[in-house]
Amino acid sequence: MYKHIISFIQERFDTESFIPLHEPKFAGNEKHYLNECIDSTFVSYLGKFVTEFEDQIKEFTQAKHALAIVNGTMALHIALVADGVQENDEVLTQALTFVATTNAISYQLAKCVFIDVDKETMGLSPDALRAFLEENAEMINGFCINKKSGRRIKACMPMHTFGHPCRIDEVVEICDTYNISVIEDSAESLGSFYKGKHTGTFGKVGVFSFNGNKTITCGGGGIVITNDDAIATRLKHLSTTAKVPHQWNYVHDEVGYNYRLPNLNAALAVAQMERLSDFLDNKRTLVAEYREFFENGAIKFFIEPKNARSNYWLNAVILDSRKERDAFLKQTNDAGVMTRPIWELMSNLQMYKNCQTDSLVNSKWLRDRVVNIPSSVRFG
Ligand SMILES: *Cc1c(COP(=O)(O)O)cnc(C)c1O
Repeated sequence: MYKHIISFIQERFDTESFIPLHEPKFAGNEKHYLNECIDSTFVSYLGKFVTEFEDQIKEFTQAKHALAIVNGTMALHIALVADGVQENDEVLTQALTFVATTNAISYQLAKCVFIDVDKETMGLSPDALRAFLEENAEMINGFCINKKSGRRIKACMPMHTFGHPCRIDEVVEICDTYNISVIEDSAESLGSFYKGKHTGTFGKVGVFSFNGNKTITCGGGGIVITNDDAIATRLKHLSTTAKVPHQWNYVHDEVGYNYRLPNLNAALAVAQMERLSDFLDNKRTLVAEYREFFENGAIKFFIEPKNARSNYWLNAVILDSRKERDAFLKQTNDAGVMTRPIWELMSNLQMYKNCQTDSLVNSKWLRDRVVNIPSSVRFG
Protein backbone atom coordinates (compact mmCIF):
# COMPACT_ATOMS: atom_id res chain seq x y z
CA MET A 1 0.00 0.00 0.00
CA TYR A 2 2.86 2.41 0.79
CA LYS A 3 5.23 0.99 -1.83
CA HIS A 4 5.36 4.20 -3.85
CA ILE A 5 6.44 6.16 -0.76
CA ILE A 6 9.12 3.61 0.07
CA SER A 7 10.57 3.73 -3.43
CA PHE A 8 10.39 7.53 -3.50
CA ILE A 9 12.45 7.75 -0.30
CA GLN A 10 14.92 5.10 -1.53
CA GLU A 11 15.42 7.12 -4.72
CA ARG A 12 15.88 10.34 -2.73
CA PHE A 13 18.61 8.75 -0.63
CA ASP A 14 19.99 6.77 -3.56
CA THR A 15 19.99 3.41 -1.78
CA GLU A 16 17.90 0.33 -1.14
CA SER A 17 19.72 -0.54 2.06
CA PHE A 18 18.77 0.83 5.48
CA ILE A 19 17.88 4.53 5.60
CA PRO A 20 18.08 6.05 9.10
CA LEU A 21 15.89 8.90 10.33
CA HIS A 22 18.75 11.33 10.82
CA GLU A 23 22.42 10.49 10.57
CA PRO A 24 25.34 12.78 11.36
CA LYS A 25 27.53 14.12 8.54
CA PHE A 26 31.23 14.80 9.07
CA ALA A 27 32.67 16.26 5.91
CA GLY A 28 34.42 19.40 7.14
CA ASN A 29 37.14 20.22 9.67
CA GLU A 30 36.04 17.72 12.35
CA LYS A 31 39.17 15.50 12.31
CA HIS A 32 41.48 18.45 11.89
CA TYR A 33 40.08 20.27 14.95
CA LEU A 34 39.96 17.09 17.03
CA ASN A 35 43.65 16.50 16.36
CA GLU A 36 44.43 20.10 17.16
CA CYS A 37 42.50 19.77 20.42
CA ILE A 38 44.37 16.60 21.47
CA ASP A 39 47.73 18.14 20.55
CA SER A 40 46.93 21.16 22.71
CA THR A 41 46.28 18.85 25.76
CA PHE A 42 43.26 21.04 26.56
CA VAL A 43 40.68 18.30 26.26
CA SER A 44 38.48 19.25 29.22
CA TYR A 45 36.21 22.21 29.61
CA LEU A 46 38.96 24.81 29.38
CA GLY A 47 40.09 25.46 25.83
CA LYS A 48 39.68 27.62 22.80
CA PHE A 49 37.08 25.46 21.03
CA VAL A 50 34.58 25.91 23.85
CA THR A 51 34.84 29.69 23.54
CA GLU A 52 34.77 29.52 19.74
CA PHE A 53 31.65 27.36 19.81
CA GLU A 54 29.92 29.77 22.18
CA ASP A 55 30.87 32.70 19.94
CA GLN A 56 29.51 30.93 16.86
CA ILE A 57 26.19 30.32 18.63
CA LYS A 58 25.97 33.93 19.79
CA GLU A 59 26.62 35.13 16.26
CA PHE A 60 24.14 32.72 14.69
CA THR A 61 21.28 33.25 17.15
CA GLN A 62 22.08 36.86 18.06
CA ALA A 63 21.84 35.95 21.75
CA LYS A 64 23.97 38.01 24.13
CA HIS A 65 25.35 35.04 26.10
CA ALA A 66 25.98 31.39 25.29
CA LEU A 67 27.36 28.71 27.58
CA ALA A 68 28.31 25.23 26.39
CA ILE A 69 26.98 22.38 28.56
CA VAL A 70 27.57 18.59 28.51
CA ASN A 71 24.24 17.79 26.89
CA GLY A 72 20.82 19.25 26.20
CA THR A 73 19.14 17.61 29.17
CA MET A 74 21.66 19.05 31.63
CA ALA A 75 21.35 22.41 29.88
CA LEU A 76 17.60 22.36 30.57
CA HIS A 77 18.27 21.36 34.16
CA ILE A 78 20.80 24.12 34.83
CA ALA A 79 18.41 26.65 33.26
CA LEU A 80 15.72 25.65 35.77
CA VAL A 81 18.20 25.80 38.67
CA ALA A 82 19.44 29.23 37.60
CA ASP A 83 15.88 30.46 37.32
CA GLY A 84 15.25 29.41 40.93
CA VAL A 85 12.79 26.58 40.29
CA GLN A 86 12.49 24.63 43.53
CA GLU A 87 11.01 21.46 44.94
CA ASN A 88 7.18 21.46 44.60
CA ASP A 89 7.12 24.40 42.21
CA GLU A 90 5.12 23.77 39.07
CA VAL A 91 6.45 24.03 35.53
CA LEU A 92 3.97 24.28 32.67
CA THR A 93 5.00 22.28 29.63
CA GLN A 94 3.58 20.19 26.82
CA ALA A 95 2.65 16.51 27.09
CA LEU A 96 3.72 16.06 23.49
CA THR A 97 7.50 16.25 23.92
CA PHE A 98 10.62 14.15 24.30
CA VAL A 99 11.13 12.89 27.85
CA ALA A 100 14.26 15.05 28.36
CA THR A 101 12.00 18.08 28.88
CA THR A 102 10.13 16.52 31.76
CA ASN A 103 13.20 14.74 33.16
CA ALA A 104 14.88 18.12 33.65
CA ILE A 105 11.83 19.37 35.56
CA SER A 106 11.81 16.24 37.72
CA TYR A 107 15.54 16.55 38.59
CA GLN A 108 14.57 19.80 40.32
CA LEU A 109 11.77 17.93 42.17
CA ALA A 110 9.31 20.29 40.53
CA LYS A 111 5.93 19.16 39.18
CA CYS A 112 4.98 19.09 35.52
CA VAL A 113 1.62 20.51 34.44
CA PHE A 114 0.67 19.55 30.90
CA ILE A 115 -0.85 22.07 28.48
CA ASP A 116 -2.10 21.27 24.99
CA VAL A 117 -0.28 22.04 21.74
CA ASP A 118 -1.45 23.68 18.50
CA LYS A 119 -2.09 21.33 15.58
CA GLU A 120 -0.32 23.74 13.21
CA THR A 121 2.92 23.89 15.20
CA MET A 122 2.89 20.77 17.42
CA GLY A 123 4.24 23.14 20.10
CA LEU A 124 2.70 24.70 23.22
CA SER A 125 -0.56 26.48 22.42
CA PRO A 126 -0.85 30.06 23.72
CA ASP A 127 -4.64 29.70 23.57
CA ALA A 128 -4.59 26.60 25.77
CA LEU A 129 -2.06 28.28 28.07
CA ARG A 130 -4.22 31.38 28.49
CA ALA A 131 -7.34 29.29 29.14
CA PHE A 132 -5.51 27.18 31.72
CA LEU A 133 -4.17 30.19 33.59
CA GLU A 134 -7.51 32.01 33.51
CA GLU A 135 -9.15 29.01 35.10
CA ASN A 136 -6.43 27.91 37.51
CA ALA A 137 -4.12 30.76 38.40
CA GLU A 138 -4.25 33.55 40.96
CA MET A 139 -1.60 36.10 41.78
CA ILE A 140 -0.52 36.20 45.43
CA ASN A 141 2.29 38.58 46.48
CA GLY A 142 3.47 38.76 42.90
CA PHE A 143 3.66 34.98 42.48
CA CYS A 144 1.44 32.90 40.27
CA ILE A 145 -0.31 30.28 42.40
CA ASN A 146 -2.25 27.29 41.08
CA LYS A 147 -5.61 27.42 42.91
CA LYS A 148 -6.12 23.66 42.51
CA SER A 149 -2.78 22.53 43.95
CA GLY A 150 -1.76 25.56 46.02
CA ARG A 151 1.68 25.38 44.42
CA ARG A 152 3.65 28.19 42.81
CA ILE A 153 3.76 28.12 39.00
CA LYS A 154 7.36 29.21 38.53
CA ALA A 155 8.22 28.49 34.92
CA CYS A 156 6.93 27.46 31.53
CA MET A 157 8.91 25.26 29.16
CA PRO A 158 7.56 25.28 25.61
CA MET A 159 9.24 23.02 23.03
CA HIS A 160 9.70 23.66 19.30
CA THR A 161 8.72 20.24 18.00
CA PHE A 162 10.92 18.77 15.25
CA GLY A 163 12.28 22.29 14.70
CA HIS A 164 8.91 23.96 14.00
CA PRO A 165 8.61 27.10 16.11
CA CYS A 166 5.56 27.36 18.36
CA ARG A 167 3.80 30.75 18.76
CA ILE A 168 6.53 31.66 21.20
CA ASP A 169 5.99 35.44 21.28
CA GLU A 170 2.41 34.92 22.53
CA VAL A 171 3.55 32.33 25.08
CA VAL A 172 6.09 34.81 26.47
CA GLU A 173 3.53 37.63 26.57
CA ILE A 174 1.05 35.52 28.56
CA CYS A 175 3.73 34.25 30.96
CA ASP A 176 4.97 37.80 31.56
CA THR A 177 1.57 38.86 32.86
CA TYR A 178 1.65 36.00 35.39
CA ASN A 179 5.32 36.41 36.38
CA ILE A 180 6.17 32.98 34.97
CA SER A 181 9.66 32.54 33.46
CA VAL A 182 9.89 31.04 30.00
CA ILE A 183 12.65 28.54 29.36
CA GLU A 184 12.56 27.45 25.73
CA ASP A 185 13.36 23.85 25.00
CA SER A 186 14.75 24.65 21.57
CA ALA A 187 16.84 21.45 21.60
CA GLU A 188 15.45 20.51 18.18
CA SER A 189 15.33 23.95 16.60
CA LEU A 190 18.83 25.25 15.94
CA GLY A 191 18.39 27.10 12.64
CA SER A 192 14.66 27.79 13.17
CA PHE A 193 13.36 31.34 13.26
CA TYR A 194 10.02 32.82 14.28
CA LYS A 195 9.08 36.24 12.93
CA GLY A 196 12.72 36.67 11.94
CA LYS A 197 14.12 35.94 15.41
CA HIS A 198 15.95 32.76 16.33
CA THR A 199 14.09 30.29 18.55
CA GLY A 200 15.52 30.20 22.06
CA THR A 201 15.93 34.00 22.17
CA PHE A 202 12.32 34.80 23.12
CA GLY A 203 12.30 33.37 26.65
CA LYS A 204 14.58 34.04 29.61
CA VAL A 205 16.80 31.11 28.60
CA GLY A 206 16.92 28.93 25.50
CA VAL A 207 18.51 25.50 25.21
CA PHE A 208 19.96 23.59 22.25
CA SER A 209 21.10 19.98 21.94
CA PHE A 210 23.95 18.57 19.86
CA ASN A 211 23.18 14.90 20.37
CA GLY A 212 24.08 12.52 17.55
CA ASN A 213 20.63 12.62 15.95
CA LYS A 214 20.18 16.40 15.92
CA THR A 215 20.70 18.74 12.91
CA ILE A 216 24.38 19.11 13.85
CA THR A 217 26.18 17.14 16.53
CA CYS A 218 29.27 17.11 18.72
CA GLY A 219 28.72 13.57 20.00
CA GLY A 220 26.90 14.83 23.03
CA GLY A 221 26.47 18.44 23.94
CA GLY A 222 24.16 21.29 24.75
CA ILE A 223 24.19 25.03 25.04
CA VAL A 224 22.21 27.61 26.99
CA ILE A 225 21.62 31.08 25.59
CA THR A 226 20.25 34.17 27.31
CA ASN A 227 20.16 37.93 26.97
CA ASP A 228 20.01 38.35 30.76
CA ASP A 229 23.41 39.22 32.31
CA ALA A 230 22.50 38.08 35.82
CA ILE A 231 21.19 34.70 34.62
CA ALA A 232 24.31 34.25 32.46
CA THR A 233 26.56 34.78 35.47
CA ARG A 234 24.45 32.39 37.52
CA LEU A 235 24.53 29.72 34.80
CA LYS A 236 28.31 29.88 34.57
CA HIS A 237 28.78 29.74 38.35
CA LEU A 238 26.40 26.82 38.84
CA SER A 239 27.79 24.80 35.91
CA THR A 240 31.39 25.07 37.16
CA THR A 241 30.95 23.63 40.70
CA ALA A 242 29.99 27.05 42.12
CA LYS A 243 33.65 27.85 42.66
CA VAL A 244 34.39 31.34 43.89
CA PRO A 245 36.88 32.76 41.37
CA HIS A 246 40.37 32.95 42.87
CA GLN A 247 43.88 32.30 41.57
CA TRP A 248 44.45 29.25 43.79
CA ASN A 249 41.84 28.83 46.51
CA TYR A 250 39.19 26.17 46.26
CA VAL A 251 36.12 27.70 47.83
CA HIS A 252 32.59 26.92 46.67
CA ASP A 253 29.63 28.92 47.92
CA GLU A 254 26.78 26.49 47.16
CA VAL A 255 26.12 23.03 45.73
CA GLY A 256 27.17 23.34 42.09
CA TYR A 257 27.36 21.11 39.06
CA ASN A 258 30.06 19.84 36.72
CA TYR A 259 28.10 20.48 33.55
CA ARG A 260 30.53 22.24 31.19
CA LEU A 261 31.16 20.83 27.71
CA PRO A 262 34.65 19.32 27.17
CA ASN A 263 36.87 21.06 24.61
CA LEU A 264 37.04 17.75 22.67
CA ASN A 265 33.32 17.87 21.98
CA ALA A 266 33.52 21.59 21.31
CA ALA A 267 36.17 20.94 18.61
CA LEU A 268 33.62 18.78 16.81
CA ALA A 269 30.91 21.39 17.42
CA VAL A 270 32.97 24.21 15.88
CA ALA A 271 33.51 22.17 12.72
CA GLN A 272 29.79 21.33 12.53
CA MET A 273 28.75 24.95 13.09
CA GLU A 274 30.86 25.89 10.05
CA ARG A 275 28.54 23.66 7.99
CA LEU A 276 25.22 24.57 9.61
CA SER A 277 23.94 26.88 6.86
CA ASP A 278 24.84 24.32 4.17
CA PHE A 279 23.08 21.60 6.13
CA LEU A 280 19.95 23.72 6.51
CA ASP A 281 19.87 24.50 2.77
CA ASN A 282 20.44 20.86 1.95
CA LYS A 283 17.59 19.77 4.21
CA ARG A 284 15.27 22.26 2.52
CA THR A 285 15.89 20.71 -0.91
CA LEU A 286 14.65 17.40 0.50
CA VAL A 287 11.66 19.19 2.04
CA ALA A 288 10.74 20.67 -1.35
CA GLU A 289 10.82 17.20 -2.89
CA TYR A 290 8.71 15.73 -0.08
CA ARG A 291 6.19 18.60 -0.32
CA GLU A 292 5.72 18.04 -4.01
CA PHE A 293 5.44 14.28 -3.61
CA PHE A 294 2.83 14.38 -0.84
CA GLU A 295 0.82 17.22 -2.37
CA ASN A 296 -2.82 16.25 -2.93
CA GLY A 297 -2.27 12.76 -1.49
CA ALA A 298 -3.97 11.08 1.45
CA ILE A 299 -0.90 11.48 3.62
CA LYS A 300 -0.17 15.06 4.67
CA PHE A 301 3.38 16.39 4.84
CA PHE A 302 3.89 18.70 7.84
CA ILE A 303 4.78 22.19 6.62
CA GLU A 304 6.45 24.95 8.65
CA PRO A 305 3.92 27.11 10.54
CA LYS A 306 2.93 30.65 9.62
CA ASN A 307 5.60 33.28 10.42
CA ALA A 308 8.20 30.54 10.85
CA ARG A 309 11.29 29.40 9.04
CA SER A 310 11.89 25.88 10.33
CA ASN A 311 15.09 23.86 10.25
CA TYR A 312 12.96 20.79 9.38
CA TRP A 313 15.10 18.74 11.76
CA LEU A 314 12.83 15.71 11.42
CA ASN A 315 10.30 15.66 8.63
CA ALA A 316 6.84 14.54 9.65
CA VAL A 317 3.75 13.20 7.93
CA ILE A 318 0.20 12.92 9.28
CA LEU A 319 -1.71 9.70 8.67
CA ASP A 320 -5.50 9.44 8.71
CA SER A 321 -5.81 7.26 11.78
CA ARG A 322 -3.88 5.26 14.29
CA LYS A 323 -4.56 2.11 12.30
CA GLU A 324 -3.09 3.57 9.11
CA ARG A 325 -0.19 4.95 11.07
CA ASP A 326 0.66 1.48 12.36
CA ALA A 327 0.43 -0.05 8.89
CA PHE A 328 2.70 2.70 7.55
CA LEU A 329 5.25 2.16 10.34
CA LYS A 330 5.30 -1.58 9.72
CA GLN A 331 5.71 -1.42 5.95
CA THR A 332 8.35 1.28 5.90
CA ASN A 333 10.48 -0.20 8.69
CA ASP A 334 10.21 -3.69 7.15
CA ALA A 335 11.56 -2.19 3.92
CA GLY A 336 14.55 -0.64 5.75
CA VAL A 337 13.16 2.88 5.54
CA MET A 338 13.29 4.08 9.12
CA THR A 339 10.17 5.82 10.38
CA ARG A 340 8.92 6.30 13.90
CA PRO A 341 5.82 7.62 15.61
CA ILE A 342 5.84 10.85 17.58
CA TRP A 343 6.33 10.35 21.33
CA GLU A 344 3.80 8.85 23.70
CA LEU A 345 2.29 11.70 25.72
CA MET A 346 4.27 12.39 28.90
CA SER A 347 0.99 12.40 30.86
CA ASN A 348 0.62 8.70 29.96
CA LEU A 349 4.02 7.69 31.36
CA GLN A 350 3.80 6.18 34.83
CA MET A 351 6.06 8.87 36.37
CA TYR A 352 3.72 11.64 35.24
CA LYS A 353 0.28 10.06 35.29
CA ASN A 354 -0.82 12.04 38.34
CA CYS A 355 0.16 15.42 36.90
CA GLN A 356 -2.49 18.01 36.15
CA THR A 357 -3.39 18.36 32.46
CA ASP A 358 -5.88 20.24 30.34
CA SER A 359 -7.95 18.39 27.71
CA LEU A 360 -4.85 17.72 25.54
CA VAL A 361 -7.17 17.22 22.54
CA ASN A 362 -4.66 18.27 19.91
CA SER A 363 -1.83 16.42 21.63
CA LYS A 364 -3.83 13.18 21.55
CA TRP A 365 -4.86 13.74 17.94
CA LEU A 366 -1.25 14.27 16.84
CA ARG A 367 0.07 11.43 19.01
CA ASP A 368 -2.13 8.99 17.06
CA ARG A 369 -1.17 10.23 13.58
CA VAL A 370 2.29 11.81 13.31
CA VAL A 371 5.21 9.81 11.94
CA ASN A 372 8.76 10.97 11.22
CA ILE A 373 10.35 10.03 7.92
CA PRO A 374 14.04 10.08 6.86
CA SER A 375 15.46 13.59 7.13
CA SER A 376 19.28 13.39 6.93
CA VAL A 377 21.42 15.86 5.08
CA ARG A 378 22.23 14.48 1.61
CA PHE A 379 25.38 15.43 -0.21
CA GLY A 380 26.07 14.56 -3.78
C1 LIG B 1 17.31 16.11 22.12
C2 LIG B 1 16.39 16.79 23.03
C3 LIG B 1 16.79 17.26 24.31
C4 LIG B 1 18.16 17.15 24.87
O1 LIG B 1 18.76 15.98 24.61
P1 LIG B 1 20.26 15.57 24.93
O2 LIG B 1 20.33 14.25 24.26
O3 LIG B 1 20.40 15.51 26.40
O4 LIG B 1 21.20 16.57 24.32
C5 LIG B 1 15.86 17.94 25.07
N1 LIG B 1 14.61 18.13 24.64
C6 LIG B 1 14.19 17.72 23.43
C7 LIG B 1 12.80 18.01 23.02
C8 LIG B 1 15.05 17.00 22.60
O5 LIG B 1 14.61 16.57 21.41
